[in-house]
Amino acid sequence: MKAAVVHEFRKDLTVENVPIPAVGETDVLVKIHACGVCHTDLHAAHGDWPVKPKLPLIPGHEGVGEVIKVGNGIKHLKPGDRVGIPWLYSACGYCEYCLSGRETLCLNQHNAGYSIDGAYAEYCVADGRYTVKIPDNLSYVEAAPLFCAGVTTYKALKVGEAKPGEWVAIYGIGGLGHVAVQYAKAMGNKVVAVDTFDDKLALAKELGADLVINPKTEDSAVFIQREIGGVQASICTAVSKRAFDEAYRAVKRGGKCVAVGLPPEMIEVPIFDTVLNGVSITGSIVGTRKDLEEALQFAADGKVKTTITTAKLEDINEVFKDLEEGKVNGRMVLTF
Ligand code: NAD
Ligand code: ZN
Ligand code: ZN
Repeated sequence: MKAAVVHEFRKDLTVENVPIPAVGETDVLVKIHACGVCHTDLHAAHGDWPVKPKLPLIPGHEGVGEVIKVGNGIKHLKPGDRVGIPWLYSACGYCEYCLSGRETLCLNQHNAGYSIDGAYAEYCVADGRYTVKIPDNLSYVEAAPLFCAGVTTYKALKVGEAKPGEWVAIYGIGGLGHVAVQYAKAMGNKVVAVDTFDDKLALAKELGADLVINPKTEDSAVFIQREIGGVQASICTAVSKRAFDEAYRAVKRGGKCVAVGLPPEMIEVPIFDTVLNGVSITGSIVGTRKDLEEALQFAADGKVKTTITTAKLEDINEVFKDLEEGKVNGRMVLTF
């Protein structure tokens, strides 16, 4: 099968022929129809984070396609089913996190396109217990980004706990942020969108954002505090330390700053303001299979629609370059 492979960090991926992986007892083999390109894949290919991915690596954790082979231990899926393979490739199933509905915190998890090969390939093996079915009325291409960008931002909004009618800020209107705006609107929030590119802010407006601010024109936190008195939750998906700093200061008293983006830097947090304002900063990592089902349903119901540009597997190095330079508006999806 054809796959895009990372052999060395910060080097181009090579598109090459590799063997189709074997199917174990609880696995399914998926013929990939589409795979979204997440900024995480870029971090993986660069070796940005303290925990490094396996090498060589086939990235991709927004892969969707058709089940063509099912391991003996999988009874709820059959050939022909339409599924996606999320970042949470598998978890142990019996630790305190798995048992308490927090499987994304499992210490024995595998991650698609990071610790295990992902879906930048014509075929991908998945753990059948952790794949999630795609609603019938969503195409493969529109469903793909929901398997990471969708579920991650939907979950982050839940973690942010802003009630209907309350303001949220979405920092970074990229692959994640452009769906975050729509989930927030669908959940009844008012939305202020923040990005350093005006075309991304224009997209946010089209998708329902009530206010937009480009931090190149004014410190976004100062703007948000002045115009609306702060937000109940700010969801930071931007790959930028500066964005995290502003996202923290945009929160009103009692609010939450939810860290989602993963720049490899540190943030400094003033203890005095955190205490006096009673604000919290919390991380949010993807979402559970249940979160994913819910996130997909919002799209199936027409409340969330991914903005997509398609590309071919052979274009992957160009796509990575565009993503790094902030030139992708919405999500880039590889089609097969
Ligand atoms: P993306 O490149 O599509 O979007 C990032 C956006 O941030 C861009 O639109 C960019 O213009 C904007 N941005 C850059 N600097 C900014 C600033 N100072 N203020 C406001 N906006 C700014 O990336 P993506 O695929 O949406 O991923 C974003 C981040 O989220 C990555 O670090 C990725 O690894 C991470 N991520 C985390 C999770 C999780 O579970 N926590 C899941 C998926 C991705
Ligand atoms: Zn992702
Ligand atoms: Zn576990």
